Amino acid sequence: MIYLDNNATTSAYPEVVEAMLPFFTEKFGNPSSLYELAQQQKDAIESSRQKVAEILGVQPKEIVFTSGGTEAVNTAIIGSALAQQEKGKYIITSKIEHKAVLETCKFLQKYLGYEITYLSVDSSGVIDLDELKNSIRSDTVLVSIMYANNETGVIQPIQEIGKIVKQANVPFHSDVVQAIGKIPVNLSELGVDYASISGHKFHGPRGIGILYRRKGAPFTPLIRGGAHENKMRAGTENTPGIVGIATALEIASREINNKMPEIEKLRDRLQQRILDEIPEVIVNGGTAPRVPNTLNIAIKYVEGEAMLFLLDNEGILASSGSACTSGSLEPSYVLLAMGLDHATAHGSLRFSLGKDNTQQQIDKVVDVLAPIVQKLRNMSPFCPDELKK
Ligand code: PLP
Repeated sequence: MIYLDNNATTSAYPEVVEAMLPFFTEKFGNPSSLYELAQQQKDAIESSRQKVAEILGVQPKEIVFTSGGTEAVNTAIIGSALAQQEKGKYIITSKIEHKAVLETCKFLQKYLGYEITYLSVDSSGVIDLDELKNSIRSDTVLVSIMYANNETGVIQPIQEIGKIVKQANVPFHSDVVQAIGKIPVNLSELGVDYASISGHKFHGPRGIGILYRRKGAPFTPLIRGGAHENKMRAGTENTPGIVGIATALEIASREINNKMPEIEKLRDRLQQRILDEIPEVIVNGGTAPRVPNTLNIAIKYVEGEAMLFLLDNEGILASSGSACTSGSLEPSYVLLAMGLDHATAHGSLRFSLGKDNTQQQIDKVVDVLAPIVQKLRNMSPFCPDELKK
């Protein structure tokens, strides 16, 4: 198997699993109880919080463990918006956010009467800072812009966005799920008030995430009940998950300097060989800064799904520029927002590399992909004759 879908999910580091195991078995107490067994869990949670805060450049009390990236995003957006209803009901986000952000905004719009502006992006996938400036109003309660896009890997100028938003005295949330473990992330330096993180994207466990909430940023909890997580997220703590995500963050942050440059070299090799050996290919987001592991390409006159199926037959796992929505294949809204036409968006593939990929694997992918593309083009009524062989 050649796994090139690390933006979808990753395998857990063995050290992560090892660190988690005792908290399922011998150290299983409920952290809210008063005996020693509980104290062991409480200590593990607090030292994990400390570790996470240190790595992210923030205070431990600003770290809230959640059930994943989606919950962190929901909590940041809804928790911030509801705490500021007197100020207004207007939120600014972008057209290329993950569904966790888009659907949360839609929920606020549909059920609570919020107005949402979705900023556009240019052909490289980057938002326009002037459009952002012009969209801010006195009733803006939140700006939510992602750091790295999950489909293209394109990085937004978060620090500059943060300055603009701060000047307007508006809270700022960033979905940093796809940046963690790929590029250095210091949340204080980024200038965000809230950030969302997901464990399973950097070799941590699933079902655990982190919400960063800057001390003093407007907030009301979304998940209500007991006084867990400094009263910011109720529910008996997922101690194995918390220990797992902290361990993964520690290793992944170290690997940004050690492993990521190697992964980037492989990504660049994959990109170059595809461009050299397959005609009529566009690198989506190729002119913008990107995270080192992601390559999104549009291959003209072929269907992404057909390519994925044939790649899968050869043991190569990647992802396409389409999403299956209610039984029909919709082209990626991220690629459409970048100005791709429907057919080209449909012919897009995402390769997201990871720590276990080798040069041999990358070369095999191109050796397999080039004839697949040729075969599909030969069968396509839309492919110009000069590209057929
Ligand atoms: N945000 C982005 C950019 C993502 O890529 C994902 C995962 O697909 C999420 C949020 C949601 O994270 P989780 O799977 O932990 O709910």
